[in-house]
Amino acid sequence: DMTSLAGKNAIVTGASSGIGAATARKLAAAGANVMLVARRRDRLEKLAAELGPAATTLELDLGGADAAQALLDAATSRFGKTDILINNAGILRTSHVDSFDLAELEPLITINYTTVVRTSLLFARQMKANGAGQIVNLSSIGASLTAAGTGVYGGLKAALERFTDVLRIELAGSGVRVGLIAPGTTTTEIFADMKQKGQPGWDEFIPPMVPDDIAKAVLFMCEQTGNANAARMHIYATSEG
Ligand code: NDP
Repeated sequence: DMTSLAGKNAIVTGASSGIGAATARKLAAAGANVMLVARRRDRLEKLAAELGPAATTLELDLGGADAAQALLDAATSRFGKTDILINNAGILRTSHVDSFDLAELEPLITINYTTVVRTSLLFARQMKANGAGQIVNLSSIGASLTAAGTGVYGGLKAALERFTDVLRIELAGSGVRVGLIAPGTTTTEIFADMKQKGQPGWDEFIPPMVPDDIAKAVLFMCEQTGNANAARMHIYATSEG
């Protein structure tokens, strides 16, 4: 409803596009204050204008080694305490044996894994000290399947899933909920790189979902109360699985 997250302070990384933008809309509609994080300032400002005074923006490159600390510092100065962290930003590069550009390896690891681990740990410590909080990490169906081109991306998401599950267990009973959401094929700009390289984006042959389908799951995870925790959610398109 429109008040389920009233007064909560939420961060959405990768809010300039796709699932992150849809998630920011959902959290704001549920009453949360939302900090929109990504590199493209124009996109962030446009969304913030749409969402109104509950939204603020942070232009930040999550590929930098100091990005997680910068995010924590920005959140602490704006919010004081952060209630909800959605680690959504991610990039997709396929890793076919003959064509993978090895220069893509480092940014893939940093943005899809290392920075998510850093932010999860930094915010988890603060949330644990506060006795409450919610962290949602965006995984992928790619973590659970063995398909050509997905070795690096899917492998990093699988590592992120294990990290996230263990973090959830380490925080059990602390008041901090941790969960992961593994979407299937969803039409967003994430397939732009494949398409630019002449590969068909997966959304061209799998009837895809839309970002709002995944944002609904993120909101559901954030709305858990009492002793309930939506620990892992797989939201797949009807023709995949
Ligand atoms: P999009 O490409 O639409 O959005 C990605 C977002 O991440 C953008 O807001 C982008 O912002 C941000 N981002 C990328 N690199 C950086 C960076 N260096 N610093 C800061 N922000 C960055 O992708 P989706 O919405 O599809 O993806 C969201 C999440 O969902 C990802 O983790 C993805 O792996 C996952 N996912 C998506 C699926 C799909 O089918 N779409 C399926 C399974 C999982 P900017 O460029 O402005 O910095």
